[in-house]
Amino acid sequence: MTEEQRDGLIDRIPATAVLWPHDDELAWFPNRTYDEWRTILGHPPAHRGCCQTCGCATTCLLGAFYDSVVTSTVRELDRLGALKEQP
Ligand SMILES: [Zn+2]
Repeated sequence: MTEEQRDGLIDRIPATAVLWPHDDELAWFPNRTYDEWRTILGHPPAHRGCCQTCGCATTCLLGAFYDSVVTSTVRELDRLGALKEQP
């Protein structure tokens, strides 16, 4: 897959996706979305695209870490041959 195709897959992940490691605990943490984690970890959104902690017109450090983890995970899954192109 190209980087653009991988980015297309990432764009399809809903903002309501629960970020939790254990399937059997998902029902206990239905609101652990990225936005909730931002608040829990001290980087709540100020308004669209900005962080209350890091400020506007700059990169949120938590956002940069999150983007790196997601992008790297998808890249590595692609290298393992675990992904397929979507129609
Ligand atoms: Zn931030």
